[in-house]
Amino acid sequence: MLRDRDFRRITRGLRFRLTASYALFFAVLLIGVASWFRESLVKTLDAQVHETLNQEWAALKGGYLRIDKSPELDYKYGSTWYYDETDPDESAIVLDIKKIYMIADQNGNLIQEAKTKEQEYSTTYDEIGIDPPKLVQQRVREAMAAMKPGTPGKAFWDERRSSKGEPFLIRAGIFFDEGHVVPGQHVPFYVAIGYPLSGNGKILRGLTWRWIAIIPGALILGSFLGWIMTGRALTPVKDVAQAAQRISGSNLSLRIPARRTGDELDYLVLTFNRMIERLEASFQQMKQFSADVSHELRTPITAIRGQLEVALFTAKTTDQYREAMFNALQDIDRLSQIVRALLLLAQAESGQLVLQKSRLNLCEVVEDLVEQFQIPAEEAGVRLTADLPVECPAEVDRVQIERMINNLLSNALKFTPKGGWVRVVLNLAPDCVEIVVEDTGRGIAPEYLPHIFDRFYRVPGSGTAPSPEQGLGLGLSFVAWIVRAHNGKIEVDSTPGKGTRFTIKLPAAGVGSDTLELAGQPAA
Ligand code: ADP
Repeated sequence: MLRDRDFRRITRGLRFRLTASYALFFAVLLIGVASWFRESLVKTLDAQVHETLNQEWAALKGGYLRIDKSPELDYKYGSTWYYDETDPDESAIVLDIKKIYMIADQNGNLIQEAKTKEQEYSTTYDEIGIDPPKLVQQRVREAMAAMKPGTPGKAFWDERRSSKGEPFLIRAGIFFDEGHVVPGQHVPFYVAIGYPLSGNGKILRGLTWRWIAIIPGALILGSFLGWIMTGRALTPVKDVAQAAQRISGSNLSLRIPARRTGDELDYLVLTFNRMIERLEASFQQMKQFSADVSHELRTPITAIRGQLEVALFTAKTTDQYREAMFNALQDIDRLSQIVRALLLLAQAESGQLVLQKSRLNLCEVVEDLVEQFQIPAEEAGVRLTADLPVECPAEVDRVQIERMINNLLSNALKFTPKGGWVRVVLNLAPDCVEIVVEDTGRGIAPEYLPHIFDRFYRVPGSGTAPSPEQGLGLGLSFVAWIVRAHNGKIEVDSTPGKGTRFTIKLPAAGVGSDTLELAGQPAA
């Protein structure tokens, strides 16, 4: 027995719901088609009976029936059927008409051919109910009034049941004699002919029963097929879910195998795999970052420990102690520098560092910085110049922009050998401000370029053990963050052995902040 919970799980499942919708749709379709079919059959059969009666009426008027004075009968008039009994077609038509008919004069007095064997049929009309004289009189009047030359005359249609409950369609109208009753006059008579509808009813009932027998079977079969088909269609979804379940933080390298069918599920798998790829990259970056941080912190700590140990066990003179302490202090400086830089970057990336933008002249900022760097540049034997317009207004955070140019200038001076030059250029375009820092330093090989904005990334061979001069590998990731925070864009152009050019574009004061975006490799 299915437990309540299992039952609910199944009925909520996609397979069940799809099958149920399919079955419902199928049921509505089947019943709709069946009803439409039945309806059209009813109309067709009905039209057929009307057509048959109309044809019989035309045949009867065409000369098969004649009404005479009939002195040998009890009735005043008598009807005679004229047809060739040897002609099977004619006999069939007349016999068919004579099955159910009645003839009355215009006052409603019944005239029937009682002597012939056709009597048995006309008595059937008794069972249907002979049209009462009042009705006959009224209809004759009506038909006479509506009479137009050249038309078949007004027809009266009734649907009646015989005393046995058999349904009949009756067509009645007026019929003129050919001048046999009153010479030279066309006397109107009332004639009604009928056709049994029981045959049609039987056909319709048979059809309805057949539908009733077929529809549930077709529904069961259809639902079963629907269940199988949806099951088959959903199998890949199950596979995807199972594959996804196997993927965890420790095995993010797993991918869901693509089915290569090019369908929606393949697209889902592809999207899912891409998401895992991005997650893996983030995880990797996080891992790398913690490894880098521990490495960066460990190096100065080990150095401090070594220096203190040396001082403790081997130093004898005050100078030796002083030297060890000086070295330890230097490493502590580096340590706090790393911690400060990390803290700043963490603050920046978590959104805690909010820009304090103000409208200022960038020329002044650059001039001040270039002036500050003149002494170290001279010491390094590098020519430092600035190429500035008269004025360069921008809406930026002064502290961060100074930090950005500072980082770029100190890198440029660090990596430019004696005799080289470093230049800062400011260009004012209509929608942006361009800051260029270029040098004739050693450049960066193309394979390293995509990584220079990563945290702790230093181009291999930049130096041996890390030293305060060499940097922490955090400067450019911070530059990237500052550019991004200003909705700007940064590009690097570098030729190994020739020099490097950093180009930063910041939206001009008053220009929509979404117009520019960050390019290059920002800090993750
Ligand atoms: P660091 O603080 O170590 O300089 P950065 O993030 O500022 O770290 O720079 C990353 C790396 O990019 C540096 O180690 C250096 O190799 C390279 N780099 C940065 N600027 C320049 C430059 N102007 N010329 C040559 N290499 C550079």
